[in-house]
Amino acid sequence: MSNPWIKEFWRVAALGLLALAIGLIINQVLASLWFATTAYLAWHVYNLYRLEQWIIKRQTTSPPDAKGIWGEVFYHIYKLQRRNRKRKKKLTNMLARFQESTSAMPDATLVLNAENEIEWFNKAAIMLLGLNKIQDAGQRIDNLVRTPAFVNYLMRGNFRRPLEIFSPENRNIRLSINIVGYGKSKKLMIVRDVTRLHQLENMRRDFVANVSHELKTPLTVINGYLENLMDAGDENTSQWYGVLDQMHQQSERMAQIVNDLLLLSRLETDDDSQSRDPVAVPALITAIVEDLNSLINEKQQTVEMDCDFDLWLQGNEKELYSAFSNLIVNAVKYTPEKGKITLRWQLKGGQPYFEVNDSGIGIAPEHIPRLTERFYRVDKGRSRDQGGTGLGLAIVKHVMIRHNAKLMISSEPGKGSSFRCAFAPDRILMKQAGQVQSLQSG
Ligand code: ADP
Repeated sequence: MSNPWIKEFWRVAALGLLALAIGLIINQVLASLWFATTAYLAWHVYNLYRLEQWIIKRQTTSPPDAKGIWGEVFYHIYKLQRRNRKRKKKLTNMLARFQESTSAMPDATLVLNAENEIEWFNKAAIMLLGLNKIQDAGQRIDNLVRTPAFVNYLMRGNFRRPLEIFSPENRNIRLSINIVGYGKSKKLMIVRDVTRLHQLENMRRDFVANVSHELKTPLTVINGYLENLMDAGDENTSQWYGVLDQMHQQSERMAQIVNDLLLLSRLETDDDSQSRDPVAVPALITAIVEDLNSLINEKQQTVEMDCDFDLWLQGNEKELYSAFSNLIVNAVKYTPEKGKITLRWQLKGGQPYFEVNDSGIGIAPEHIPRLTERFYRVDKGRSRDQGGTGLGLAIVKHVMIRHNAKLMISSEPGKGSSFRCAFAPDRILMKQAGQVQSLQSG
């Protein structure tokens, strides 16, 4: 197809010549040229008007008929419009299909903008979060779901872990909320009903707690009778002494397991996780070491203490005692005779930390991530010989969670291990002139 602009050029040139010729004939060259230019301009204005009308009316029909360059313009715009219409239709279909599938999803799905206003949500969001299809689009999500934990979660903007809350619609429904950022500053919020999972988890917890509780009394009775028989020391029992002693050791071990399981289930279920009593950690560590003195002396180990005696902590004394004593007992158990154990309670970078270093057998790197699992032992035989239950580090982990603290483990086989509990600065209490003060309030 030839270039329309060349055609248009010839058209204008022909018009000019015609006007010139007529002008010469009637002896009115200027008037004739002026008339031709005005007619040409009027033709353009007329076509511009037609174009505007056509666009305004969003006509889907063919474009207005026009000659010359305007015919080309109309044709190209029409082509562009058709292409856009097709694309729009495709996108609309895609969106409809996406909305259909997300509507059918049992999980609530919401699209939030940078201001946390709801741009779109599916049917499940109506059921799980109690949203209203007509009123709530465009509203801020934290105005509709006002649970403080959710509002804080949204404000903090750290969505690495999902958040669990009760449904604002029904307190019997437990929801897990996941938020993922996408695009420039949009968020996709996915809300899942995890009530059943929770029920199962609670059943498991209750079951372990109940079994442990039920075993406690029979074990105490068996233990008591075994001790009595061993103490009796008469002819009938003395020949069974070895057997009785072994039975006694095993029943003690079972009692220890039961106690640890009960402690763990208490740590998991007790809601009193924010207990912030002043705890004299240096005295606590000293007391634990004194309790273990006979075992330490028996193994001729050296225990060094590097403690800041003015540094206290806000927390739960009993729980901290359990956690710290488990770590120290492990260091004593897994360090051979004449080994060295260092206990540190210090501030580092404004953060209080308790650390147990030993020169013991160490742990291979592949075991370290699994050490805090229940009943996980690197060497089952060795742990049993040492009287371990396999629950010590699980208890430490739970106590740390309840104190918003972190447990860090590093170790090298054959060289020793280091277990560090790092607490948040807001738990610090400083003893000054016989008084204990929080750093934050002072
Ligand atoms: P256990 O009652 O068996 O000691 P824990 O939960 O306290 O159970 O510890 C889990 C496992 O971690 C232990 O069985 C042991 O293999 C390993 N472990 C814990 N502390 C130490 C340590 N200080 N040195 C070497 N290994 C350790």
